[in-house]
Amino acid sequence: ANKTFTMIKPDAVQDNYIGGITQMIEEGGFRVVALKKTRLTPERAGKFYEVHKERPFYNDLVNYMSSGPIVAMILEKDNAVADFRKLIGATNPAQAEEGTIRKKYAKSVEANAVHGSDSDENAQIEGDFFFGEDERF
Ligand code: ATP
Repeated sequence: ANKTFTMIKPDAVQDNYIGGITQMIEEGGFRVVALKKTRLTPERAGKFYEVHKERPFYNDLVNYMSSGPIVAMILEKDNAVADFRKLIGATNPAQAEEGTIRKKYAKSVEANAVHGSDSDENAQIEGDFFFGEDERF
C-alpha cells in the first residue's frame, strides 16, 4: 500500500527538530496527508505500544512517549512502509546509516527521534488512532 504513519517523538520535538525532520520526510518523496502536534497521556501511550507490553522496556517507553508533545503524521508514497523505515534507519542510532533521520537526530535507542509503522496493517491502525476521516487530505 501507499501509506505509513509516523510520530516525531518527544525528545525531537523538545529539541526543535520538527522542521528538520519534516524536511527530510518531504525530500524523501513522502507527501504529508495528515499532521498534528498533540500529547499522549500515559494511558494512550500504553495503548499505542500495547504490542510491546511484555518487553522489558515497555514502562520506560510509555513514560518517555508521554513525557512531552509529539507530532503525528500520515505519509503517502509508493511502497511507503518499507521506504520510510529505510529513511529513518535502525532503531539504535549507533547502527543507523548515514543519511537517515535517526543518524542525524536520534539520541539513544529509546529517544530515537521518530516512529515508523512496521506493516500496512499497523500503518492503518496507527493512523486511525490519531486522525479522523476529515483530517486527511
Ligand atoms: P518504532 O516502532 O518506534 O518505529 P522500531 O520498530 O525501530 O521503533 P521497536 O523494537 O518496535 O523499534 O521498539 C519500539 C520503540 O521502543 C523504539 O523505537 C524505542 O523508542 C523503544 N525501544 C526499543 N528497544 C529499546 C530498548 N532496548 N531500550 C529502550 N527503549 C527501546
